[in-house]
Amino acid sequence: MQTVRHSEHTLKTALISKNPALVSQYEKLDAGEKRLMDEAFRPDSDLFGPITLHSQSDWITSHPEAPQDFEEFFSDPYRKIPSPQKHSIYVQCIGLLGNTRSISEEYVKWLKGYCEAFFYGLTVKLLEPVPVSATRCSFRINDNTQNLQIHAGQILKFLKKKKPEDAFCVVGITMIDLYPRDSWNFVFGQASLTDGVGIFSFARYGSDFYSSHYEGKLKKLQKKSSSDYSVFDNYYVPEVTSVLLLRSCKTLTHEIGHIFGLRHCQWLACLMQGSNHLEEADQRPLDLCPICLRKLQSAVGFHLKDRYKALVRWVGAESIDTPTATPEHSRADPLSLPKPVEAFKEWKEWITKCLAVLQK
Ligand SMILES: [Zn+2]
Ligand SMILES: [Zn+2]
Repeated sequence: MQTVRHSEHTLKTALISKNPALVSQYEKLDAGEKRLMDEAFRPDSDLFGPITLHSQSDWITSHPEAPQDFEEFFSDPYRKIPSPQKHSIYVQCIGLLGNTRSISEEYVKWLKGYCEAFFYGLTVKLLEPVPVSATRCSFRINDNTQNLQIHAGQILKFLKKKKPEDAFCVVGITMIDLYPRDSWNFVFGQASLTDGVGIFSFARYGSDFYSSHYEGKLKKLQKKSSSDYSVFDNYYVPEVTSVLLLRSCKTLTHEIGHIFGLRHCQWLACLMQGSNHLEEADQRPLDLCPICLRKLQSAVGFHLKDRYKALVRWVGAESIDTPTATPEHSRADPLSLPKPVEAFKEWKEWITKCLAVLQK
């Protein structure tokens, strides 16, 4: 295992920059916010730490990219910024996310609430869910994994056409696996930053996707015509668990982060780190390092305290301390499905520590 450790000086420059205008912008942050952001370059910080590399197949090793510091982000002329006229993040659900319509609806509402807290101050709206057939996209069975896949690029075109006037972006989410082109095996998601649209799949985040008993395998694609989407009726959807919800929240916010112009983080352990595989995605934290946080704050304009408080509220108080509130117990009664937040517990403690630094 290897760590990518930058010097105090490097991190400080990446965060504050040497541009006098940006330095003075930083100086104007309130004392608590500066105290928290300064943790980025405190060598003994217990809130933020270096990136850990676990294998040669990790993102940083296999995809060398130029790092993006705050100044580069801030001065990027192609970056899209929300405006009073384009102030909403739209979420379009494609196919069901849960085994039943009501579980699916609950799931999307949890994701909506999470995004509202994460991108605090922006409005998150849900578009009416659509079946796969509505997108008219191509689909196939993957030769290796034998699961159903839909064409990511064609979904992006569908989303672009549906983009409402007040949308900062539209993100499609689905439990069906995606492929970007015939020669590719799969893709977790795809986005067009210029069009402000993205499509992300959580299919591979179920606990059973990579197991031999995965129930989404199909032998043969039987379709009467190219417009026959009946194979998607009753197609396998993984069980909604706390880990699946956590992975979905992580993916969604990481990908929307890209639409804001945040590139992969190479400074500290951070949600915006690239990831090549599920293991690596699981290792990255749920939230942003101070450098990426300053980028998002400058784009959205929230107070850190309000944002962290909203995130704590989303996790909720009781459900975390009530071990009986697992999704399994509520399966029979989906209407009272409690939000499965067990996997967020450690993170909630971390945010509470951040709040303490902000409010010291
Ligand atoms: Zn990414
Ligand atoms: Zn970062």
